[in-house]
Amino acid sequence: MTPIATPSDAPMAPDPDACSGVVALVTEYLEGALDADTQARFEAHIADCDGCDIYLEQMRATIAAAGRVDVERVAPATLERLVAAYRSARGR
Ligand SMILES: [Zn+2]
Repeated sequence: MTPIATPSDAPMAPDPDACSGVVALVTEYLEGALDADTQARFEAHIADCDGCDIYLEQMRATIAAAGRVDVERVAPATLERLVAAYRSARGR
């Protein structure tokens, strides 16, 4: 499989199959900025993962309330903890 137009100096792309990738991509997803393949994998993960499902709903609600949210200002470790908290709140 050949990567499509990946600049050699680009940071490693977030993986939408992983929870950390969902966290990294959520604003682009909500802005409709993901490419079709990434969006499809993102949605497949969301459908399968309660933690990310809830995380996405939280982000959607936050953005609806605030107009916009700057995810980059939130430490990734904090977001990972939030996802873990959502997951345990759901009894998993
Ligand atoms: Zn997940």
